[in-house]
Amino acid sequence: MNIYDKYQIIKSKRKSMAINIKPDGSVIIRVPLLASTPTIQKFITKYQSWINDKLETINANPPINDQLYYLGQLYPMVLTQKSTNTVEILENNILIAIKDDQDRPHPMLINWYKQQTISLVTPILKKYQAKYEITFNRLTITAAKTRWGSCSSRGNICFSYRLAMLPIYVIEYIVVHELAHLKYLNHSSKFWEHVGKLYPEYNNAEKWLKQHKYALAQQII
Ligand SMILES: [Zn+2]
Repeated sequence: MNIYDKYQIIKSKRKSMAINIKPDGSVIIRVPLLASTPTIQKFITKYQSWINDKLETINANPPINDQLYYLGQLYPMVLTQKSTNTVEILENNILIAIKDDQDRPHPMLINWYKQQTISLVTPILKKYQAKYEITFNRLTITAAKTRWGSCSSRGNICFSYRLAMLPIYVIEYIVVHELAHLKYLNHSSKFWEHVGKLYPEYNNAEKWLKQHKYALAQQII
């Protein structure tokens, strides 16, 4: 593979070459202005197994942001050691307590977001079910990164565990959006009319999602 596709190669006024691996797994090779491609290639080959080892470690322990969204607010994430593995919000931090260094905070956090999403979504679902006599088949919480929710023709509704990152009024909109799909499995004008009937302020929620799209995409958990 072309080294220029695989790595970010930055030429600058320097004498030697250096490799910089960022926490997100991107690799930067810093080289002198006049370094030729074969020379750079040779340098990379020499350190290839070192680069691969580092990338393997990063992939096995994906980095977690220092700040995580919960209900639309950013909370600093604090790691601590305790006698039990817990995740909780304490003094405006998302506090992750791990029993020993072997435990990875990553699956604990995902599980926490999952539980949060279930307890946030359930009362909203109940509210609309009671008010509009809407019935659905099954609720599943998924690990979807780019889709907040989905709905199948069999009446199964899915939400991403990442839903708990959003403000409650945005969560309500996404729930309503999926419930509206039980009636219209498309994004026709009839569908949006129906969404508007169930949840008139849906435009604000759409706006919040648009404004935070980039920030939310940066949330690696
Ligand atoms: Zn939709």
